[in-house]
Amino acid sequence: MILVLRPDATSEQLDHILARISERGFKAHVSRGEHRTIIGIIGDETKPEAETFAAMSGVEQVLRVLKPFKLASREFRAADTIVEVGSVRIGGGHLAMIAGPCAVESFERLDAIAARVKASGANLLRGGAFKPRTSPYAFQGLGERGLKILRDVGDKHGLPVVTEVMDPRQVELVCRYADMLQIGARNMQNFDLLREVGQTRKPVLLKRGMSATVKDLLMSAEYILAEGNSAVVLCERGVRSFEDSTRNMLDLSAIPNVKGQSHLPIIADPSHATGRPDLIPAMARASVAAGADGVHIEVHDCPEQALSDGAQALLPDQYDRLMHDLRRLAHVVGKTLANQE
Ligand code: PEP
Ligand code: MN
Repeated sequence: MILVLRPDATSEQLDHILARISERGFKAHVSRGEHRTIIGIIGDETKPEAETFAAMSGVEQVLRVLKPFKLASREFRAADTIVEVGSVRIGGGHLAMIAGPCAVESFERLDAIAARVKASGANLLRGGAFKPRTSPYAFQGLGERGLKILRDVGDKHGLPVVTEVMDPRQVELVCRYADMLQIGARNMQNFDLLREVGQTRKPVLLKRGMSATVKDLLMSAEYILAEGNSAVVLCERGVRSFEDSTRNMLDLSAIPNVKGQSHLPIIADPSHATGRPDLIPAMARASVAAGADGVHIEVHDCPEQALSDGAQALLPDQYDRLMHDLRRLAHVVGKTLANQE
């Protein structure tokens, strides 16, 4: 529990509050800020106690940190966290525009897509080298060869690169090539993998599991933060629902919901959320309007030849039109596109 004292609280009031805290068998941690004093109370938190403290003179607010996630919570850090990926800042008013094909397929193809998305204003390049496929017979990604291509193309176009890591044993390898590690929806609760990426100092893009609650997502972020890696960006990518005309259901409310509870940036992935190019632009715009710190969009220059997720890829021209809208929207919501400030 955290007690926030009124700015005009007197030292007598503070002493009185501290005495009552110890009387009740709690431990107090006093933190004196420039404008306010905050008291952290450690012990068994029950509702009647919170009400007792709220009624004391000098107390402005009682915050009950009953949430199981601590380091990810707003109580722990009030200001928005800004995650830096190379020269790109994400969060705190800076939008990440992540774009690229679902999978790295060849140098030439990725090079062509990267040139187009970069020209449209993307600031991070994505592409999977290790693909989590429903079928073991489907294309599984180019592995290390794909990572090398991604790195080379990213360097050529001045775009930091993000790619998925699926297994704790791949973390070291992927770290050699990637600027940001993606934890996919299917691995959001792979706790060994979360701990492993938590031990690196690479920024992590943590995607929400398809049947994970917002709390589950924040608990998974907590695993990474608890290992000492504070560069975590969350991603809403849709959850499973009864609706079968879209691939998943984009939970737009998760964006302000997370922002209220956590200081971590959160972006949206309308590509995997809808699975439909006709819906992606509207959902991308809605996500930015809802407060997202960026969008993650799959783009392919020849979707019919794509080795994975071709059906949901935007064409470069469609992406370009969307980015035009998003730039205007960013202006309206008082945000800037990273790298274009
Ligand atoms: C992806 O980004 O290509 C991907 C597999 O996403 P998700 O884990 O959200 O399904
Ligand atoms: Mn994909």
